[in-house]
Amino acid sequence: MAVVIDYDKCTNCKLCYDRCPEGLFGLDEQGKVYVKYQHECWLCGACQMDCPFGAIQVRYEENVKPIFLKRDDKE
Ligand code: SF4
Ligand code: SF4
Repeated sequence: MAVVIDYDKCTNCKLCYDRCPEGLFGLDEQGKVYVKYQHECWLCGACQMDCPFGAIQVRYEENVKPIFLKRDDKE
């Protein structure tokens, strides 16, 4: 699992930094958002859903499906 920021899309609005319930995002020396505590992510998906620019992807391991994606699950 990994939370990946696409810096070609990211505008550094810091919404993910403010909204992650676990406070896992940090700011580097230039004030740029990055995932500081990757291993503590609890897969809520909030950062991916809330990023206004589609710049975050939460990558899940095989056979793991996040709760927020199950809403549209037709199975
Ligand atoms: S919410 Fe999206 S655009 Fe804003 S800082 Fe985070 S990754 Fe970048
Ligand atoms: S998936 Fe949830 S816990 Fe993980 S980094 Fe994103 S907002 Fe934080």
